[in-house]
Amino acid sequence: MAKRAENEQPQKAFGWAARDPSGILSPFHFSRRENGDDDVTVKIHYCGICHSDLHSLKNEWGFTKYPILPGHEIVGFVTAVGSSVHKFKVGDRVGVGVIVGSCQTCDICEQSLENYCPNVIFTYNSTDHDGTNTYGGYSDMIVVHQRFVLQFPENLPSDAGAPLLCAGITVYSPMKYYGMTEPGKHLGVAGLGGLGHIAVKIGKAFGLKVTVISTSPKKEDEAINKLGADAFVLSSDPAKLKAAVNTMDYIIDTIAAVHPLAPLLSLLKMDGKLVTLGLPEKPLELPIFPLVLGRKLVGGSDIGGMKETQEMLDFCAKHNITADIELISVDNINMAMERLAESDVKYRFVIDIANSLSPS
Ligand code: NAP
Ligand code: ZN
Repeated sequence: MAKRAENEQPQKAFGWAARDPSGILSPFHFSRRENGDDDVTVKIHYCGICHSDLHSLKNEWGFTKYPILPGHEIVGFVTAVGSSVHKFKVGDRVGVGVIVGSCQTCDICEQSLENYCPNVIFTYNSTDHDGTNTYGGYSDMIVVHQRFVLQFPENLPSDAGAPLLCAGITVYSPMKYYGMTEPGKHLGVAGLGGLGHIAVKIGKAFGLKVTVISTSPKKEDEAINKLGADAFVLSSDPAKLKAAVNTMDYIIDTIAAVHPLAPLLSLLKMDGKLVTLGLPEKPLELPIFPLVLGRKLVGGSDIGGMKETQEMLDFCAKHNITADIELISVDNINMAMERLAESDVKYRFVIDIANSLSPS
């Protein structure tokens, strides 16, 4: 299998992949397609580590194809463009997020909601148009159709900006779609990890009052004094939860594990909206009474389309929103995964690919 990945395409590539559900990553030689007319080749400098990478590495969703090479928060520099590419040139700094392909012709793609296209191609663990597996950003380079490449705004740093490409758009898109941006309204953010801490910052940029709902008492001080949240509710403390009942207009739920929804629904006012973004391996139980009695709404959302992802990057650049990151070398990637599983990261690991990845 590994040998096939190495030879099936003309360009040699190198990264770190897992071979089985232990999820342990190790060096991996593979190959990428030639840069086509509509393609952009990117030398990868930084790649964020999303909890979806960890779910996938361990096959928690049941559809991982091994070897898997994750990574969908990619920032790098263009090294080649095809003859039909006019938006990008060699040397440009660009981003690549969670998707690298779609049919590009359906109604959904026409609205630039490529992320919801039935034929969406994810950046890793997906089947590309040519039938090969896609491999993500824990690697030296990637070849991507121009539609799925983003201009990276000048004032965003490459390392702390990289997580916006998944975590940023994943929280921005539902806030816009579900109308959760009215200044002065009260937003709860459940789970203060990669997605959650950016939701706090984007919420504040929209002028919301933001309360973090967390299981980690040690995150309280930073949530308020560093990330700019207005309040912090420790979800394991019944008195604190009770004091916050019926106070929130919206909640963004980014919790990566199975958890009860009833306490979160109780925090919402009448007509409140709860958007679930986390993707735990098992279904959550949905209590109906609080929904019915309070005319509350529960919804979901999956990253965002290409147009909106560019809009989000420009919004974050304008409001100086970046991730708080721990920059690691690729050799520390397995340690980072262990810490991510324990909710022990402030608040996103980013791999320094350009300075630490070398073929061995
Ligand atoms: P993360 O950095 O690990 O953050 C998740 C947070 O959830 C943790 O920091 C922790 O916050 C809380 N948490 C974890 N285990 C918990 C438990 N057992 N009970 C209660 N709270 C718990 O993960 P992430 O990268 O932000 O991703 C979050 C989830 O969103 C993942 O499931 C990921 O796959 C999913 N995701 C979805 C999309 C989408 O498009 N919908 C996109 C990207 C990621 P506290 O310490 O504050 O409690
Ligand atoms: Zn992600």
